[in-house]
Amino acid sequence: MLIIGSHVGYKKDSGLVGSVEEALSYGANTFMFYTGAPQNTIRSSIDLDNVKKAYTLMEDNSIDKNNVIVHAPYIINLANGDESKFNFSCNFLSEELKRVDTFGFKYLVLHPGSHVGQGVETGISNIIKALNIVLDKDNSDVMILLETMAGKGSEVGRNFEEIKAIIDGVSKKNRIGVCLDTCHLNDAGYDLKTIDEVLDSFDKLIGIDKIRCIHINDSKNTISSHKDRHENIGKGTIGLDTLIKVIDCDKLKDVPKILETPYIDGKAPYKEEISLIRSLSKQ
Ligand code: FE
Ligand code: FE
Ligand code: ZN
Repeated sequence: MLIIGSHVGYKKDSGLVGSVEEALSYGANTFMFYTGAPQNTIRSSIDLDNVKKAYTLMEDNSIDKNNVIVHAPYIINLANGDESKFNFSCNFLSEELKRVDTFGFKYLVLHPGSHVGQGVETGISNIIKALNIVLDKDNSDVMILLETMAGKGSEVGRNFEEIKAIIDGVSKKNRIGVCLDTCHLNDAGYDLKTIDEVLDSFDKLIGIDKIRCIHINDSKNTISSHKDRHENIGKGTIGLDTLIKVIDCDKLKDVPKILETPYIDGKAPYKEEISLIRSLSKQ
């Protein structure tokens, strides 16, 4: 069965119950959320009663907790070697892992980081150092999913080789996975029309089993543009046929698919996009 959902909100008052309700309102069977605003560090304590209620709601509606994704905030940048920023990012990532574990979820999506002019190699070695520091003292089984990036600005992780270089340097390799993003892949220069070849090259370098999440977005820009601007499903340069081809890939069958497409006139497009995808998908 197709495992599909979208980014949903997480608010202090409604907590995880509110996130699950939002996902269900879109007809989704999974979802992704931030544990607080993605651009700041304010995080409320987790209400365990609320989490319990959310789990009941999930079970009643066949949402498997192992398919739920948490996205780490953008303010974490492990690639920046500046001491205070580096320490801040490590500490915040440690706390975020604990929150994901408290929720009982398995996956935390993380942007590898931006090297902010320090160079890709330095960026990669900073990321490796940070992941080893953070994972060394974390004994949960939460997996950090490195997201493949569009290569905007000084983003690291803009191709499979860079993702591989990071994973190669991490000691606890079983704690690291990968999150693909169709908009980012397109903008980074991967032609999704040839998704089988793209996945083959991923498999040879990293291993297909590392892919644990895929963000499904169309792109406002052409291939190799390095822009990272998401477009609604079927309205961008990737197009509906190719996105369905990606979604229906046998090799990605059990991987949760998460929409992060833009709101239309202030309204979430996810209900319509999920039903469009379901109507065309063979899964
Ligand atoms: Fe992301
Ligand atoms: Fe994404
Ligand atoms: Zn993006």
